[in-house]
Amino acid sequence: MAGLAAGARARQLRAAPVVLEKGNRAGGSMLLSSGVVWRHRTLDDFRAECPGGEASLQARIVEELDDALDWLESLGIEPVRRETGNPLTLGRRYDPTGLTEALVRAAGDIRLGVPFAEAQVLATGGFAARLARERDLLLRAAPWSEGDGLAYAIERGAATTGGMDEFYGRAMPAAVAEADFVRASQLYARHALVLDDDGNEVGEAAWHESDLVQRLPDGRAWYVVDARALREPVRERTVADLVESARNAGGDVRPADQLPFELPPSPKLSEPPFLAVRVHAAVTHTTGGIRIDDRARVLDREGRPAPNLYAAGADVGGIFTGGYGSGLAAALVYGRIAAETALA
Ligand SMILES: Cc1cc2nc3c(=O)[nH]c(=O)nc-3n(C[C@H](O)[C@H](O)[C@H](O)COP(=O)(O)OP(=O)(O)OC[C@H]3O[C@@H](n4cnc5c(N)ncnc54)[C@H](O)[C@@H]3O)c2cc1C
Repeated sequence: MAGLAAGARARQLRAAPVVLEKGNRAGGSMLLSSGVVWRHRTLDDFRAECPGGEASLQARIVEELDDALDWLESLGIEPVRRETGNPLTLGRRYDPTGLTEALVRAAGDIRLGVPFAEAQVLATGGFAARLARERDLLLRAAPWSEGDGLAYAIERGAATTGGMDEFYGRAMPAAVAEADFVRASQLYARHALVLDDDGNEVGEAAWHESDLVQRLPDGRAWYVVDARALREPVRERTVADLVESARNAGGDVRPADQLPFELPPSPKLSEPPFLAVRVHAAVTHTTGGIRIDDRARVLDREGRPAPNLYAAGADVGGIFTGGYGSGLAAALVYGRIAAETALA
C-alpha cells in the first residue's frame, strides 16, 4: 500500500513517479487484507499499546490518519463502513480490491514484475517472507516481502530499529490459500485454553492476540474450547464458525479427549463437549525495520538523514514496537508523507 500511496500523492503533486513492483500484481498484502485502516483513539493509547515505538512516529498517524482517509475518498475510494467495529479504535473499512484498483489508477505508472534496483521511496513491505522461512512459521502475507528495501537502506547507511524479531501474528489452522487468510484465522485465544504439546498453558492473549501468537512454543499450540465458548461472537462470526473454517481448511480439529495429554482443569472448560484445534503461528508483517524520522527520511545511526532516501509501510520499524497497530494506516500515512518530503 505504501508505495501506491506515495505514487498517488507524488502524481497529485505533479511529479511523474514510477512504482516498481516485484510481484505479478499490484497491492501486496493490502490486497489480501481485511481493509480496516485504523488508529488508536489517542496518542496515549497508542503509547500504551506499543510502548517500544517512537512517539513522534506514532503521533503523525494519530494526527493525520483521518485526513488521509478523506484523501482516499477524494481519489474516489468510498469506505464500506465508517467504523472499525472495535471500540478501542477509530477508522474505516474498505474493500481491498477497490482500494487497490483506485490507488493503482491514481499512482499511474506501475511496472509489474520489476524489482527495484534504485529507489527514492522504499516500500517493499518489510521481511515477513524471510522471517517466516527462518523461523519455520507460516506466512500469512503476499510472498514477495523478503526485506529488499531494508537491505538497500542498510547498504546506504541506514540504522535499524528495535523489535527486529517481532511480528504481527495470527494463528492459522494450516497453510491456506491467500483467499482464506482472513476467513481461516483462529482469532479466539481469549475464549480458549491455549496449551503447548505437553499440555501446559501458554498464557493469556491481549485483545488483538498477536502477542500470544508470537509466544507459541515452536509456533504451535492447541486451542481448546468448550461448548459455551463456541457460541461466543468474534466480529461478525462465532467461535464455532471459526472452528468450522479450520476444519474446512484441512486443519486438525478433534475432540479434546483425543489429545495426547490430560487436560488441565480450567474455568474455561466448564461446559462439555471440549474441542481442540491445532494452530500454527503465521507472520503477517514484521514490526522492526528501517529507522526513519517523522518526515519519512531514512536515518543513520547518528540520526542523520540519508540523502534523498525515504521509507514507508512495513519497511519502517519503530512504530508498533512491543504491540500491535494498523499496518495499513502506517503505510497510508507514511506513504503520503514520503512523497511530500521527497518533493519538498
Ligand atoms: C490477511 C491479511 C489481513 C490484514 N488485515 C489488515 C487490516 O484489516 N488492517 C490493517 O491495518 N492491516 C491489515 N493487514 C496488514 C497490511 O496489509 C499491511 O500492514 C500493509 O499492506 C503493509 O503495507 P506495505 O505497503 O508496507 O506492504 P504491502 O502492501 O505488502 O506492499 C509492499 C509491496 O512491495 C512489493 N515488493 C517487495 N519487494 C520488492 C522489491 N524488491 N521491488 C519492488 N517491489 C517489491 C511487494 O510485492 C508488495 O506489493 C493485513 C494483512 C493480511 C495479509
